[in-house]
Amino acid sequence: MRYQKSQELFAQAQKIIPGGVNSPVRAFKSVGTQPIFIERAAGSKIYDVDGNEYIDYVGSWGPMILGHCHPKVVEAIQQAATKGASFGAPTALETELAELVNQAYPNIEKVRMVSSGTEATMSAIRLARGFTGRDKILKFDGCYHGHADSLLVKAGSGAATFGVPTSPGVPADFAKYTLTATYNDLAEVQQMVAANKEEIACIILEPIAGNMGCVPPRPGFLEGLRKLCDAEGILLIMDEVMTGFRVAFGGAQERYGVRGDLVCLGKIIGGGLPVGAFGGRRDIMDVLSPLGGVYQAGTLSGNPLAMSAGIATLKLLQAEGFYQQIEEKSAYLEKGLQQVCATQPVATRWQRVGGMFCTYFTDREVFSFADAATSDTEAFGRFFRSMLDEGINLAPSQFEAGFMSVAHSREDLDKTIAAADKSFASLKG
Ligand code: PMP
Repeated sequence: MRYQKSQELFAQAQKIIPGGVNSPVRAFKSVGTQPIFIERAAGSKIYDVDGNEYIDYVGSWGPMILGHCHPKVVEAIQQAATKGASFGAPTALETELAELVNQAYPNIEKVRMVSSGTEATMSAIRLARGFTGRDKILKFDGCYHGHADSLLVKAGSGAATFGVPTSPGVPADFAKYTLTATYNDLAEVQQMVAANKEEIACIILEPIAGNMGCVPPRPGFLEGLRKLCDAEGILLIMDEVMTGFRVAFGGAQERYGVRGDLVCLGKIIGGGLPVGAFGGRRDIMDVLSPLGGVYQAGTLSGNPLAMSAGIATLKLLQAEGFYQQIEEKSAYLEKGLQQVCATQPVATRWQRVGGMFCTYFTDREVFSFADAATSDTEAFGRFFRSMLDEGINLAPSQFEAGFMSVAHSREDLDKTIAAADKSFASLKG
């Protein structure tokens, strides 16, 4: 049987790990099957414990833009490991990565490293509250910013997949400080801000929403938020954990030309190791301890292995034409899939920005979570399972983005298009 060992390992894991996984979407629950357990990966491919090979569009949920096991990144991690896994003391590596981040994002005048995207957004929000002296925050339905309490209100990603966007365990008293608006609806945000005058510390958003599929900002949306924040003394937090170094070296802010006061990073910045970062305007960042009173810390923050992987990765991304390659590969896949979709009896909508994309099983253009939620998730599940059988590893949820790496070959893309043709056809009836 194709997935026998994975199924055995899953049964074993479920006895000791809740749901058998350490992060919910990995359980494949919403796509009606069981997870594959991974043995190893290389380049554009990932291999399960049964020896099956897949062309991988998950890329560890975004970090692996160079493909898996890039030799320069592997070497950097190996070299760092021989010098010590962790010191809990400053190293030159941290400053080197911080300077690379500043080159990509000129508005990140100062930056602090953490160990995950969740820590980055949680810390940025505390800092925004401390800096402004205001308690409320505003986020958007379907945007996911990690699992800190104030951000698990109408969240995307796994929370959307499982239909519990507001998690039990988040006190109502706490959640009341989180206002939620419709993505891409500037008028609604303006009304909320007016109704909560001088109470909102920050507006946090994914400048391209990747946790409800792939939803680009409508023209004027980011610009409008920037203007509103400036007028009202609200900090704009660009959560670029997913889009940072993905849609351009300087992320969505470079692409759209709108800058946040604070920026959250993760995924690619760690080259596959656990790293997050938050940074921004100097006057705001200097309110952090030990300079200021807003406390934030981490035993493993700035870990030398993680910094080394991040530095090696970002340097490779600076190569001439890197993002052009990602764009061309993604556009090729887009063209092929759209041709395939045009001949199929199912309604699909393809959305993409650079190397992140999504096929929605709906006939409408997706601007918000309400639009994304019109997708036929059951059809997506069948499509997903068929693609897996064909050797294509997609994110196991309709509400996630797919990611291109520079390691994906023309042959990989052609195989993916052929597999999609077959899989769409299997949805008939
Ligand atoms: N923000 C965004 C935009 C994300 O996509 C994610 C994770 N997918 C996070 C924050 C949280 O990051 P982590 O899973 O590393 O905690």
